[in-house]
Amino acid sequence: MKQSDPIFRLDGVTRRYGNLTALDSIDFTAEDNSYISLLGPSGSGKTSLLRVIAGFEAPDSGRIWFQGRDITDLPAHERGIGFVFQNFALFPHLTIFENVAFGLRNGAINPPEAEIIQRVKETIEMVGLTGLEDRNPDQISGGQKQRVALARSLVMQPKLVLLDEPLGALDANLRERMQTELRTIRERLDVTFLHVTGSETEALAMGDKVAVLDSGRIVQFGTPEEIYDAPIISDVALFLNRFNLFDGTLKDGVFHGAFGSVPVSGARANETDVYAIRYDRTQIFDTGSTDLPGPALPARYLASEYLGSSIVFLFETEDNKTVEVDHHLSLGEPRDLEVGRDYVLSWSPEQAIVFGKELAR
Ligand code: ADP
Ligand code: MG
Repeated sequence: MKQSDPIFRLDGVTRRYGNLTALDSIDFTAEDNSYISLLGPSGSGKTSLLRVIAGFEAPDSGRIWFQGRDITDLPAHERGIGFVFQNFALFPHLTIFENVAFGLRNGAINPPEAEIIQRVKETIEMVGLTGLEDRNPDQISGGQKQRVALARSLVMQPKLVLLDEPLGALDANLRERMQTELRTIRERLDVTFLHVTGSETEALAMGDKVAVLDSGRIVQFGTPEEIYDAPIISDVALFLNRFNLFDGTLKDGVFHGAFGSVPVSGARANETDVYAIRYDRTQIFDTGSTDLPGPALPARYLASEYLGSSIVFLFETEDNKTVEVDHHLSLGEPRDLEVGRDYVLSWSPEQAIVFGKELAR
């Protein structure tokens, strides 16, 4: 298959629990041999979507296609789709080897023992667990359990693996390492990963494409750059955690906010009027500066935080709103700021993204 062929497709997939619509008529097409992040806040329907694709639950309406075939009515174990659960879900009484072998021994294919041993060994090696075959799950670390869960799915040689917050239980260092490893393993196997996460950093780092789920709807699907540079609604900008978002009023092409009234062009349809400027595009000036690139937002400097490659400066506006300025250290040393002093924040107006309800109609 070419990279552009779809591996699976959802046509109007809806899933309800009583009165609650967990998945709201989802249309979605995933390219073969790709890494897709599914990003959404808690309760947005991420797990429900994976369960419906895997076949653990049936949709109330809509169809699911996999490798060109309608699998909506096919039982989960006949779909050939891998699933890595949020809590790893290993069998505690089985060794690592037998955990990984489980699907081969208990599935429809029933390969000969020599082939089982060969495939399990290869998969265990690929995820870096060689030497731990005879241990039980309670004798390995969290990161190793995560690898077993992945190996157990990969040994079945699926073309699609669904991963439900696979790194959520790991500490920060290990999470970063596993991010790289997951990408490497996927590339070697010619398999599509659909990786659910509540972390915008993880979603943007991992995915060739990112799908953003909000209240059971996929509101945006694009490359990490597209999502980051052009969030389609203000909720996406909010999840991304990289934008200062200001309430205000958009009227006749002018946005009225705490920073004054600014003409805007190209606003996006949204439920409310919101003005968004990225943390790393917000700049700091002294009070009274006359060379501002755009609007003037008075703000008091509160604190800073080092994040490795950048420094985040926290400010508070007159209406008690926290505003962040992200200074990337590749741009040079940041200026010295005095805690408690008033400054003015400004930005180039063409770098703002404006959302307006007058466009929604
Ligand atoms: P996420 O994985 O994004 O946190 P879920 O898919 O688990 O979200 O849940 C989406 C919504 O559906 C939530 O409001 C959740 O409470 C509800 N929900 C999920 N599973 C069930 C269920 N078995 N019965 C009733 N409500 C459910
Ligand atoms: Mg979930």
